[in-house]
Amino acid sequence: MSAFDLIIRNGTMVTSDSVLRGDIVINDGKIEKIVENESFEGEGLREIDATDLYIFPGLIDSHVHFNEPGRTEWEGFQTGSRSLAAGGATTFFDMQLNSHPPTITKHAFELKDKLAKQKAIVDYRLWGGLVPSNLEYLEELHECGVIGFKAFMSPSGINEFQNANDQILYKGMEKIAQLNSVLAVHAESTDITNQLAEEKRKAGKTAAIDFCESRPILSEIEAVARILSYAQVTGCKLHIVHASSSQVVSLVTRAKQIGIDVTVETCPHYLSLTTEDFSRIGPVAKCAPPLRGKDEVEALWKSFADGEIDIIGSDHSPAPPMMKQAEDGDMFKAWGGISGAQSTLSVLLEEGYWKRNIPLERIVETTSTNPAKRFGLYPQKGTIAVGSDADLAIVNLTQFYRLNENDLFYRHPHSPYVGKTFRGKNVATIVKGKIVFENGQIISSGQYETIP
Ligand code: ZN
Repeated sequence: MSAFDLIIRNGTMVTSDSVLRGDIVINDGKIEKIVENESFEGEGLREIDATDLYIFPGLIDSHVHFNEPGRTEWEGFQTGSRSLAAGGATTFFDMQLNSHPPTITKHAFELKDKLAKQKAIVDYRLWGGLVPSNLEYLEELHECGVIGFKAFMSPSGINEFQNANDQILYKGMEKIAQLNSVLAVHAESTDITNQLAEEKRKAGKTAAIDFCESRPILSEIEAVARILSYAQVTGCKLHIVHASSSQVVSLVTRAKQIGIDVTVETCPHYLSLTTEDFSRIGPVAKCAPPLRGKDEVEALWKSFADGEIDIIGSDHSPAPPMMKQAEDGDMFKAWGGISGAQSTLSVLLEEGYWKRNIPLERIVETTSTNPAKRFGLYPQKGTIAVGSDADLAIVNLTQFYRLNENDLFYRHPHSPYVGKTFRGKNVATIVKGKIVFENGQIISSGQYETIP
C-alpha cells in the first residue's frame, strides 16, 4: 500500500461541536480519513506526533487589510500571509481597501488576485467594495468571485474609497440581494462622529480618551439600526464588522429574532484592550470604532459566551510606524488601525479559554466554522472532516510565551500585544495538506521566493 502524504497522530481535534482524540490522514490536500481513539495502520510520507497537542481547523480571518497593490509598504500579501500562518490562520479575506486601486472594479480585482496568487502562503478570497461610483460594477465583481461587498457608512480615511450615503447603500443592497451576496458595513454615524470630533478639537482636547469619546457606542448603534432597516426592506444579507460593544451585538440579536439575515463580527482587540490601554500604549492601539472601557470588554465576552457573536476577524490594518504617531500629542492625527492578525488565536486562548472558561468549540466556531458558513466555503473549509481541505492549526494549549517584536512577521513589527504574555501557542500550520509554518519558522514561501 502506498504511503499517504501526511499523517497527524494522536492529537486532540477540536471542531465547533466536538473534541476528540485520534489520527488525521491527509492526501492530495484533503483530509482522507479520521481515525478516532486508535492508531491508523498506514504510513505517511511525513508524520507529525501531536500527542498533548490540539488540532483546530485553520483560522479563517474574514477581515484583513493587506493593502496590495498600491500600499504594499504598509503590509503585503507575503508578509501578511506569513503572519497569519504563524498565528494558525489558513485562509484570509482581504478587504477592498487600503489597496490602490481599491477593489471596486473587475480590473482592480484581477490586479490584486494575481498578486495574492503569487505571494500568499495561505488560501484567500477577496472582498469587493461598494462605493458611490461602482453600482454598475457590482455584478462583474460578483462574477469574479468576491466573497461579499463592503461599504463604509462614515469616511474611510482613504480618498479613493468614498463612503456610501443612504441612497447608495439602499441601491447597493437591492443589487447585492439580487446577486445573493453579502454586504459588510463599517457602521459608525458620520454626523455624530464629525460633530463630536469638532467639539473636541475646538476645545483643544486631543488625547486618546478624547478620540474615544468622539466616536461613542451611540454612533455605532445609530448606524447599525439604520442599516438593519435597509436589510429588512431589501432582503440583503448583512454583516456588521468590528462591533466594539455588546450593545451593538444585542441590536443584531434582536434583528435576527425578527428574521433579518444578519451576522456580527468583533475583533480580538475589543475583547482584550481598553481605553486605558490605548492611553498607555499610544497610536499603535488606535482604531475605529475605538477601544472601550473595562466593563464593555466584559460585556462583550458575555455576548461571545452566549453565542451572540458570529465571527471573530482581526481587522488587521497596519501602517508604517511614521504614520502611527500622534504629532504634538494629537491622537486624532495618528493613523487608525491595529496590527493583530498573528495574535487572534493567542488572544482568544489566553483571554477566553484560560481566563473566562470559554469552550474551545466556541473559539473554533467563531474563527473558522462560521466565517466558512457565512461566506459559502463550508464544509470545504471551517471544520475537520473527511473530504474537507486539510487546513489545520496544531496548537500547544499550555505553552506560555511573551510576544516580542522579532516574533512578528508583519512588514512593520508593531502591535499592541507586544510584551504581553499568552498561554496557548500555534506550533504548526497546514494549508491544503502542506506544512507552511512549524516551530517558529515559515517553511514554505508559497510561489514567491524573495521578499519584495
Ligand atoms: Zn477593516
